[in-house]
Amino acid sequence: MIRNIHEVKECPDCASDNIIYDDERDQVICRDCGLIFEPLAPGEEERFEFAHGAAPEPKPKTKPAKKPAKKAKKKK
Ligand SMILES: [Zn+2]
Repeated sequence: MIRNIHEVKECPDCASDNIIYDDERDQVICRDCGLIFEPLAPGEEERFEFAHGAAPEPKPKTKPAKKPAKKAKKKK
């Protein structure tokens, strides 16, 4: 599970590395698709793991398989 938003290297949705970190809110914001990713959101973690089959992921290095519920609009 991601403990530091800076571990997120690319957008979970569109895989863009054009992302910015909001340290105050612990959010990662994609500048390409507008996705706001909150890896540390309270209550979200358990739900994510649950939805993911409760399989522990030691280190999501590349693209996390889980997707945030809310999806920003896509331009394409
Ligand atoms: Zn994106």
